[in-house]
Amino acid sequence: MKSSVSIVIPVHNERLNLPQLIERCVKVGRTLDRPWELILIDDGSRDGSSEMLVEAAKTYPGEIKSLILNRNYGQHNAILCGFANAQGDVMVTLDADLQNPPEEIPKLLAAIDDGYDVVGSVRADRQDVFARKLFSGIINSIVRRSTGVQMHDYGCMLRAYKRRVVDAMLQCRERSTFIPVLANLFAKRVTEIPVAHAARAAGDSNYSVIKLVNLQFDLLTCMTAGPLRLLTWVGGGISAMAIGFAMLLFFLRVVLGSEWAGNGVFTLFSILFFFVGAQFVALGLMGEYVGRIHADVRERPRYILDNVVGETLAEVPSQGSVGNATPARTMA
Ligand code: UDP
Ligand code: MG
Repeated sequence: MKSSVSIVIPVHNERLNLPQLIERCVKVGRTLDRPWELILIDDGSRDGSSEMLVEAAKTYPGEIKSLILNRNYGQHNAILCGFANAQGDVMVTLDADLQNPPEEIPKLLAAIDDGYDVVGSVRADRQDVFARKLFSGIINSIVRRSTGVQMHDYGCMLRAYKRRVVDAMLQCRERSTFIPVLANLFAKRVTEIPVAHAARAAGDSNYSVIKLVNLQFDLLTCMTAGPLRLLTWVGGGISAMAIGFAMLLFFLRVVLGSEWAGNGVFTLFSILFFFVGAQFVALGLMGEYVGRIHADVRERPRYILDNVVGETLAEVPSQGSVGNATPARTMA
């Protein structure tokens, strides 16, 4: 039988979009040739969305499960809550504002059936304001560079994940996260497909500029300690230039006389720059420790074990497990 599917949708003040969203998702779900469920998470809405979700679960028993959070925890935390309460072998996420057409879900599932662990999507003809498209183009290229994963649109939440990738994400203890980036850390085969994109059907975006900037920091810090490392390199660069400057001053002084070196004033500058650089290096060193502490408190699984072949004296972990513990000892 084909793997079951959970469609997971975070909802924050989407009263006007919910009737159409639910109708279209249910319609798509019923045409899938596999067991499916729709998980709707109310992320602290104040516009009556939560009551509508409760109602929807009653209207579609066995198809819709509604999870109501007591306040607003943010889109990605709401999705993680959905994952934790979903049963499917495959999880599909999308936005509640109908920017991601639910009709594209079968395309994602076809890619999952082809053996991919994570299927992302690229918004063909993205319907957002220019500033946001530009901003997200820059962010996407930074992510591509630092992860080496050639995905082009991390912002599009119309995505599918295999269960074991979701399980690994659920084991992570971090509070601020960015699911599409996190998923790629645990996925072996990743692909992306083009999907349609619509303008928001009704209501306003839930992201103010401040929230959006904050989200980008979540994305960055969930992926890399690079900015901390940058301090060391910048500091090292400044100090090295200061040493070069000092050598130049020394040369000018010896060859051309003291007035060429500003009678010692520039010497002070070169000493000052050296110490400014050294301070950056010191900060960067501290950053290396902070980065490692940050990695530790996240308690991400160290690995996902796919398969164990052969039996020895050692205890054999079950198939497809996700591990944080040190591996079982095997006979040498
Ligand atoms: N969302 C959420 N909690 C929040 C903000 C957003 O659950 O704090 C949901 C929202 O209901 C929508 C999705 O996350 O389903 C994306 O939000 P939105 O469409 O406002 O973001 P944009 O498309 O402007 O990036
Ligand atoms: Mg939107």
